[in-house]
Amino acid sequence: MAGLPKSFTGWDVTPPEQRSREDLTGGAGMAELHESIARLLASRNQWRQAYHHLRSALDLMTSGESAPEPEQLRHEVNRLRRAHAEAREQSLRDSLTACYNRRYLDQRLEQLLAERSSADGGLAVALVDLDWFKRVNDTHGHLLGDRVLQRVVDLLQEALPDGAFCARYGGEEFVLVLPDVLPNSAVQVCESARQRVEQFPWSQLVPGLGVTISIGVAHERGACAGRGSAEQQLISADALLYAAKRAGRNAVAFRKGAEVRLAGAAAGRSRSSERKAAGY
Ligand code: GH3
Ligand code: MG
Ligand code: MG
Repeated sequence: MAGLPKSFTGWDVTPPEQRSREDLTGGAGMAELHESIARLLASRNQWRQAYHHLRSALDLMTSGESAPEPEQLRHEVNRLRRAHAEAREQSLRDSLTACYNRRYLDQRLEQLLAERSSADGGLAVALVDLDWFKRVNDTHGHLLGDRVLQRVVDLLQEALPDGAFCARYGGEEFVLVLPDVLPNSAVQVCESARQRVEQFPWSQLVPGLGVTISIGVAHERGACAGRGSAEQQLISADALLYAAKRAGRNAVAFRKGAEVRLAGAAAGRSRSSERKAAGY
């Protein structure tokens, strides 16, 4: 690290009982140096490095004969550890809705695909898009639009199975990732989420407001069926989302063999009548 004095040479591995008083004084000096470096790093939000330096200071101080009471230092180490964990968590969250962000999605999805085993039910990735959301903004303003996004995320996350998560993909699009799930259950989870959004009393937010979502859910079986990439699965989910939109929105589209189907009540829709109802 630039700016460190020449005396900073790293760790002293001599056991404390074999160290001279001079060594220990040197150890205390080193501890102070570590503390100063930690303060500097913490002021730059470099929590992890700051934490490591404080840890070193604490180790040096607890091994010295005339070590000062390290309680305050220990407290500081814990504070920094928490700050570091919080900063890391924040960097993986979307600031508007508090669900996970794209960075987390990309990392976790790759991991999940790599970890899949043939014993798994498989992995489902659902792309969720708010219907006619531009109209919500245009009619009620961007701030109300933001509140709608927050509420939709709450509703999406309300009944997710263990290990599943919601991430913001961008704009008014979200991804639900459902690990170790069978195709039918994945469709059911998505259909329930769609219903929760449709049935929410939106007019309590502003009279006349209604909000629905469309979902495309792509399911990949366990590892024995071959490894698809995260990107491929998102592309499949996107194609299905497009099918749900074309079929009139407020619907969940999924693939059954070579066929694209709609879940729940939307299954009975005729595409052309829905296109008419949607006004295009
Ligand atoms: P469709 O049913 O085809 O998806 O129609 P849509 O109106 O939802 O789609 P479109 O892509 O035309 O519009 C998306 C809108 O989402 C436009 C954009 O301003 C809005 N949006 C994206 N991110 C945010 C956000 O963070 N807050 C708000 N309030 N609006 C957002
Ligand atoms: Mg969109
Ligand atoms: Mg939309």
